[in-house]
Parts: sequence; structure tokens; C-alpha cells
Amino acid sequence: MDCIFCKIAAGTVPAKLLFEDDEVIAFADIHPQAPVHVLVVPRRHIVSLAQAVRSDDALLARLYGTVAELARTLKLDHGYRTVINTGPDGGQTVDHLHVHLLGGRSMGWPPG
Ligand code: AMP
Ligand code: ZN
Repeated sequence: MDCIFCKIAAGTVPAKLLFEDDEVIAFADIHPQAPVHVLVVPRRHIVSLAQAVRSDDALLARLYGTVAELARTLKLDHGYRTVINTGPDGGQTVDHLHVHLLGGRSMGWPPG
């Protein structure tokens, strides 16, 4: 499958890995939008949150548990932003579900 995040998960495309286990990987975003910009990604190819079903609940919890743990490891003690862009209106550009973890600066609201 021609999916960049599947290739990173398989180790055939390089990335700056921050975490990996049997279900989830986390790596630095190639175009960081904040001093800390990490993508937390399920190894399994799920196109977007719009494709997630109830049997994915445990994996979604695992994704966010990983985000919380990473944020502590990265000492984002002043807070951070998590984002899942979904579909065209959500601004999704890579069609493999991922959580953005952004930190190290103050975030604006509402998002663009
Ligand atoms: P989204 O627009 O929410 O789908 O986010 C996709 C993100 O993937 C963007 O922030 C890109 O900068 C990032 N990205 C694309 N290709 C790579 C790559 N090879 N390694 C790391 N991050 C990437
Ligand atoms: Zn994929």
C-alpha cells in the first residue's frame, strides 16, 4: 500500500521515532508547526477517524494514552494541543489516522 505512515511503521521510510510498541508509533512531524510537533499513529492502517468503529475503541484509547505519556516525557508541563484532522474539511493530508501533539508555545483559538 502506498501509504507514507505505513512505510514509516514498517521501517522502510526513515523518521525520528520517539516511541513505538506493538500497536502505536510516534515520530517527529517533518514540517513542525510548534517547537514540539509529534505524530502519534496506529500501526494498523485506518484511513481517518471517520472510518473508526467501536471495535477500534481500545486502539483509540491506546493512542491517547500514548499522547499523554509522551507529553509528560517531553515535559510539556504548561500544556499542549492535540489535533486529529479528519477528511477534506478537517484539513487531513495523510490518509492514515494520526494524532498531532503540539507544544512548546501558546496555542491560538479558534484554529484556522
Ligand atoms: P494532516 O494534515 O493532519 O493529515 O497531517 C499530516 C502531517 O504529516 C503533516 O503535518 C505533515 O507535515 C506530516 N508528514 C507528512 N509526511 C511526513 C513524513 N514523511 N514524516 C513525518 N511527518 C510527515
Ligand atoms: Zn497507512
